[in-house]
Amino acid sequence: MKKTYKFRAYPSKEQKSVLNRQMLLCRELYNHLLEKAKEHFRDTGKTFTKYDMIKWVTKFKKEHPEYNEVYSQVLQNVPDRLSKAYKNFFRRAKEKRNGKRLKVGFPRFRSFVSSLTYPQSGFKIEKKRIELSKIGKVNFVNHREIEGKAKTLSIKKTKSGEWYITISAEKEDIVPFTNGNPAIGIDLGIANYATLSDGNILHNIKITKERNSLKRLQQGISRSKKGSQNRKKAVLRFSRHAEHISRIREDCLHKLSYTLVNSYSFIAYEELKVANMMKNHHLAKSISESSWGNFTQLLQYKAESAGCVAVGVNPQNTSKTCSECGNVQDMPLSERTFNCEICGMSKDRDLNASVNILKRATEGHSGSNASGDNVRPSHMKADAAERGTIFGGSR
Ligand SMILES: [Zn+2]
Repeated sequence: MKKTYKFRAYPSKEQKSVLNRQMLLCRELYNHLLEKAKEHFRDTGKTFTKYDMIKWVTKFKKEHPEYNEVYSQVLQNVPDRLSKAYKNFFRRAKEKRNGKRLKVGFPRFRSFVSSLTYPQSGFKIEKKRIELSKIGKVNFVNHREIEGKAKTLSIKKTKSGEWYITISAEKEDIVPFTNGNPAIGIDLGIANYATLSDGNILHNIKITKERNSLKRLQQGISRSKKGSQNRKKAVLRFSRHAEHISRIREDCLHKLSYTLVNSYSFIAYEELKVANMMKNHHLAKSISESSWGNFTQLLQYKAESAGCVAVGVNPQNTSKTCSECGNVQDMPLSERTFNCEICGMSKDRDLNASVNILKRATEGHSGSNASGDNVRPSHMKADAAERGTIFGGSR
């Protein structure tokens, strides 16, 4: 199992300048390589493969001795990145949505590179410092023990000039599926972040205050003169605050997903077509802020180590179907209660949807997992009486 760890890092002044210089070199290399790949395609009609790229980098390095300043594997990660960008481009260019080809941008020249990646080796993790080859021992805040073997390390600079180290580690042992907790379906929404099929509700964090100050900082930028020192400062304040907000959000999602995987053994969620939903401009902002995609990814990823299973289901008609009798009827967004025209059931719109989501997942599982009690929605009934809010949203 792969796990990623993120640490705040504090490189010294000297190390910062080395890092910045190496990032600059990597940017140049990336751009040269892209140019070369384009040229190659123009001349031969063939794509520049990853193998070609790696060979080219080796040659380039011989002609440009300054590249010896960068750890060799960090350099080799550059063609890796570019060939990934290429692959994505070709994959996306083939995709169709609603019968139309997507508009896909070809990999572009980079105006900056803000991270260096050590794909396999070249780093050593100590208690308070991480030794990076060709950079030195960098101080970091070691707030979490790394489980398993560290495989890949990246050091990254944010826009406001903060440094982070992310380490991805691999662990072998897998906890078997089942922690004895009940099964749950969750309906992700905006007013309530998630409605659970047992009646519990999760709230997203409220950041009105933070968002207002972000707005003020934005105004500060537009009021300052272009190119002035004050503007630079204003921009820095703005991005610092924006990063602060995204950390709050991220932290909240981590907590919510952590609590879920530790309270339930089976979690069913909708595979939302977020890209399509974003076309609705009224909803777009709330949707991007609720980061459902990130949330379900976190669920997936935390589930395994908690002995829980998270399953995505087809979202079609989950809100329009009666969770009691299966009748499908129209449910305009303004309708907050599902009143079934056939069997007369009346249930909160989101609660009804969450029950459907769980049903959909467990019905799909009934064959192979029929013996597992924890996959059966019957648990919901026991908990349904204790409706309430288990996560506070205000700060
Ligand atoms: Zn019904």
